Amino acid sequence: MSSRSRKARAKLAPPASTADPAAVDSFEPDYGTRCEVCDESPCVTGVKAGRVVYQSGLCGPCTFGTAEAIDPANW
Ligand SMILES: [Zn+2]
Repeated sequence: MSSRSRKARAKLAPPASTADPAAVDSFEPDYGTRCEVCDESPCVTGVKAGRVVYQSGLCGPCTFGTAEAIDPANW
């Protein structure tokens, strides 16, 4: 028996919790936090009724999956 067939998995898993636009009033940039994945700033936070209810820990592109999301104006 050999265990040489084990494959290395370099694939990045998608974020466990994705942004849900229905759950927040708006997305706001958090310039004090850097993305856990790519170290970009700002990170995405979700605001509802004036309170932060969602913190992705990820930047725009890593949260929304589009390059345009690097600009918080597109959130
Ligand atoms: Zn990122």
